[in-house]
Amino acid sequence: MDKERDRRMGSKYLVVLLALLSFIACKEKEQPVVEEVVVEEPADIYEFGFNLSDFVVKKDTVRKGDSFGVILERNNIGYPRIFSIAEKARDTFDIRRLQIGKPYTLLCSKDTLEVPKHFIYQPNQEEFVVISFQDSIHAYTSRKPIKYVEKTVTGVLNSSISQALDKRGISPILTNMLAEQIYAWTIDFTRLQKGDTFKVIYTDKYIDDTIYAGIHNVKAVVFNHKNTPYYAFRYRTDSIKNIYEYYNEAAKDLRRAFLKAPVKFSRISSKYNLNRRIAYYGFALRPHKGTDFAAPIGTEIMATANGTVTESQYKGGNGNYVKIRHNSTYETQYLHMQRRKVKVGDHVKQGDVIGWIGMTGNTGGPHVCYRFWKNGKQVDPFKEKLSQSEPIAESLKGDYLNFIKPIKVKLDALPIFDDSKEKEVKTTIKQKE
Ligand SMILES: [Zn+2]
Repeated sequence: MDKERDRRMGSKYLVVLLALLSFIACKEKEQPVVEEVVVEEPADIYEFGFNLSDFVVKKDTVRKGDSFGVILERNNIGYPRIFSIAEKARDTFDIRRLQIGKPYTLLCSKDTLEVPKHFIYQPNQEEFVVISFQDSIHAYTSRKPIKYVEKTVTGVLNSSISQALDKRGISPILTNMLAEQIYAWTIDFTRLQKGDTFKVIYTDKYIDDTIYAGIHNVKAVVFNHKNTPYYAFRYRTDSIKNIYEYYNEAAKDLRRAFLKAPVKFSRISSKYNLNRRIAYYGFALRPHKGTDFAAPIGTEIMATANGTVTESQYKGGNGNYVKIRHNSTYETQYLHMQRRKVKVGDHVKQGDVIGWIGMTGNTGGPHVCYRFWKNGKQVDPFKEKLSQSEPIAESLKGDYLNFIKPIKVKLDALPIFDDSKEKEVKTTIKQKE
């Protein structure tokens, strides 16, 4: 009996021991797996200064018919409490200012009741308003952290600049910045040439590390147009007013206004005057939509700004005349020339001679009738508020040249990405395969 019992007990112990051993063995084997699970536990996510894992997070946008009250009521907060919340938050945020389509977040208790504790409203990408009613009611406005990331892009124009940038995933805003802000008076972006190259150092803006908020600014560019490099560097000229301007590698300003006159040493013989009456025509109304600069026959006539010649011909009352497009807004026209020096399609720089003073067409004496066009209409250039940049102050010049030195080195060292060559490379690889 005893022996039999001992044997049975022994087998029982053995089973227990084996089970225990296998359990330990199992545990040892499983341990690393268990550790991995611990590592994979979701990390705390912070937004608006809250640890989101402490709450049930409800994100939505303000819809038609929504109000602060309607939203909170929908989330189980009664009206007397809503009124006191709105009242106490009023100094920071007027709850009536909620706009349809703007995002909001409700941070609710992590229990079955899911009681809202904080209401966060985002009037724009950068700002957010927090109305807390967890214990005491309080409200405040804050900003999301903003990060700036410097980037570079280069390319060759095989088509248009916007297409070249588009292929690289760059927003058309960059093209606009180059064409309208930086090079408006230096390069005519409607007449770019195939083979022109560009290198840009710019800054992208991110909100909260993740939300892309567009191009913040262009730090430096070199645009190689018709084999001439046009550099532009962004430089702060006024630290108090925070004014930035672009200058080239020699500290010359790029946003040049028009020359005051297309002729040196001339006098204005007739001003722009829509109410001009002329005795010769029986004092009939003969509006003068130009400014006449009188000078001896043969005097040089200059282009008043960089641009492309769009008209160069002899025509009726205008006589020999030239018209130049400077950018998408402005054109200038020069009438009654003795001779024209430029032809349609020519690119001219400010101060270039385009012809000579004459008396061709309808004119009583030697002069150039200078006409100034804005968006297709003739205006008085002397009454136009033209974008004009001051040349860099002498006191800043040294600092500027030191400032741009490393940026220019970086810009010059950037290799130019050529998408047409990229294609060739890809095809050769495929052929090898
Ligand atoms: Zn005139």
